[in-house]
Amino acid sequence: MATQECPCGHLGDPRKPCTCHPGRVAKYLSRLSGPLLDRIDIHVEVPSLGFEQLSRSGQAETSARVRERVQKARAVQDGRFASKSRSASAHCNAQMSPKQMRQHCRLDNASQEMLRLAVDRLGLSARAYDRILKVARTVADLDGKESIQARHLSEAIQYRTLDRRGRAGA
Ligand SMILES: [Zn+2]
Repeated sequence: MATQECPCGHLGDPRKPCTCHPGRVAKYLSRLSGPLLDRIDIHVEVPSLGFEQLSRSGQAETSARVRERVQKARAVQDGRFASKSRSASAHCNAQMSPKQMRQHCRLDNASQEMLRLAVDRLGLSARAYDRILKVARTVADLDGKESIQARHLSEAIQYRTLDRRGRAGA
């Protein structure tokens, strides 16, 4: 799903200023927020690029390399959920039950505090909280780590851009 962040479409655009009244932006975002945003795992801002940036090739990771990383993380998840009973079985982190989350998404004290602060500050729902934990589990899998570390969690929190914007009133 893709959306602009404000009626004129330039909020956060480094090349063109947003001309919307702040009140209108808040109203615009509030129509998106809540239950809908809660059901989306990852929010990412994609700023508009100039021609020079678009036409520059090289440096970027190839799709084949990305595919390799994704397959590795998938294999980890297959192993995690394979032995469990068929009935309540999940195939990937997104499908974890509350019980599986307690088992596989343990946080150390520092990370727990970080998440508590984020929930407070962003006014996150229980559903968004669960999504952050599951995404953090996947970030840790991509990093080849058994346990979720602070940097995995903070990356997952970063992916709640629209919750953050809505809260800040943009
Ligand atoms: Zn605007």
